[in-house]
Amino acid sequence: MILLSIKCPVCNGTDVTKHGKTSNGKQRFIGKDQTCEGKTFIQDYSDKGRLPETKHQIIEMTL
Ligand SMILES: [Zn+2]
Repeated sequence: MILLSIKCPVCNGTDVTKHGKTSNGKQRFIGKDQTCEGKTFIQDYSDKGRLPETKHQIIEMTL
């Protein structure tokens, strides 16, 4: 269940689910749309995620 408004960058589908994390700690998602060619993607489009402080907070909250 995703509370945030995550969209697939390929098909703009909102039916996505978490799919583990990348080696640098970013949340990876996967679209459930079978016809989508994007498969997994990373939510790296929010301005908050680009700030080092915020990224640090996210990592701490995850641990
Ligand atoms: Zn998609």
